Amino acid sequence: MISGRVRGLSPYRTETTPCKVKLSSNELPVKFPEEVKRKIGEAVSSIPFNRYPDPKAQELREIIAERFGVSPENIVLGNGSDELIQYLSVSVGELKEGVVYPVPTFPMYGICASTLGREKFEVPLQEDFDLDLQGFLKVIREKRPALAFFSYPNNPTGNCFDEEKIKKIRNEGVFTVLDEAYYSFSGKTFLADAVQREDTVVLRTLSKVGLAGLRVGILIAEEEVAKELNKVRLPFNITYPSQVIAKLMLTEFYHVIEEHVKMVIEERERLMAELCKMDGVKVYPSHANFFLFKTPYPAGLVHGELIKEGVLVRDVSHLPGLEGCLRVTVGFPEENDAFLFALQKVLRRL
Ligand code: PMP
Repeated sequence: MISGRVRGLSPYRTETTPCKVKLSSNELPVKFPEEVKRKIGEAVSSIPFNRYPDPKAQELREIIAERFGVSPENIVLGNGSDELIQYLSVSVGELKEGVVYPVPTFPMYGICASTLGREKFEVPLQEDFDLDLQGFLKVIREKRPALAFFSYPNNPTGNCFDEEKIKKIRNEGVFTVLDEAYYSFSGKTFLADAVQREDTVVLRTLSKVGLAGLRVGILIAEEEVAKELNKVRLPFNITYPSQVIAKLMLTEFYHVIEEHVKMVIEERERLMAELCKMDGVKVYPSHANFFLFKTPYPAGLVHGELIKEGVLVRDVSHLPGLEGCLRVTVGFPEENDAFLFALQKVLRRL
């Protein structure tokens, strides 16, 4: 029989409404050149599909390690960083010890804790979306959670938390995960700590650099920590096509990723500046490839009206502290223009 623990869960929700302009899932807008598609096609067609892939994904780990300036022994790969969040939730501390994280944040930290029956301690963010240090210290001293998650930058608020606050929280003896899924857009990292310290790991992903469909998440940890975490990894968790395509994209075609990331950072600044000019629209600072904004109207209404105009953003107004807020992902210049045009139209209509 299915346990009450599992029956009590709700499945991960994502926005799937079909729309011409999809700016709802923090993906990278990429136009893959024909040469890239052709090479990928050739590489995939020569995969021996009857064979299991390399269980260690050794070549891919070597390529990633070189890019990050770490050793392959510092790296554990996951079927998306989602899977790595699960591995950490299974492995760090005892299951009777809790997990702490700020809210609102990426929901998988809470979902993985609940799946395992671990106690969750959710500390609301301050009004400026930074960490409530005193709130964290109180929870940690009273409840002694074993594991803390920080999305850095935070999804859905877009900001990077104060580094010093994170270090003070870590000093209390809690194993600290820096989920740097949006690192390419922030440039801020705890990577140096992750390779040296036994209480810190960093998560990265290929999902936000144009390869979400491959499902490749990257965990960087001190070698002994990585060795232990590797014991809970499912044997063939990175599929053959994912290994082959990721290797190609991170070597021969890395410049394609870099160019698109650069475009998104530039577009983020332009889009935010344009939105700020709109009457009654409030825009929140961001180090990611998405940001929050607020209009004078109910978020659900604006969300629905934008869909009618063919633009899909994420309604996050149900989350604590985010009343009235919508989250928009930065897209191609023409998609961003379509969003600006649609929003202007909607605001005039309401
Ligand atoms: N962490 C954060 C903060 C995210 O926003 C996301 C995706 N929305 C993930 C992890 C999951 O990434 P992946 O596709 O690698 O599982």
